Amino acid sequence: MENNKKPAPAGKEFGGEEKSKKVRRPQKRKVCEFCEKGIAVIDYKDVSRLRKYVTEKGKIVSARTSGCCAHHQRQLTVAIKRARNMALLPFKGE
Ligand SMILES: [Zn+2]
Repeated sequence: MENNKKPAPAGKEFGGEEKSKKVRRPQKRKVCEFCEKGIAVIDYKDVSRLRKYVTEKGKIVSARTSGCCAHHQRQLTVAIKRARNMALLPFKGE
């Protein structure tokens, strides 16, 4: 049983088929908001600030998206979870 379908390695040289998907934007370095403002401890009562780090579904935004440093992201997660327990933030969106 011979399989005639080879995974053709030639494909790059076939016309201008390959679209340039690799458009890389110059990475804009996100700065941790809490570091910038010199907030050492994130307060769970600060709902207006915490809301920015929660999606509309109620999920906590990842560090990659939020731009927080590891130190503050960790604090942020705890703060959001506390806020949820105090019914300041929803567990589940809407
Ligand atoms: Zn930080």
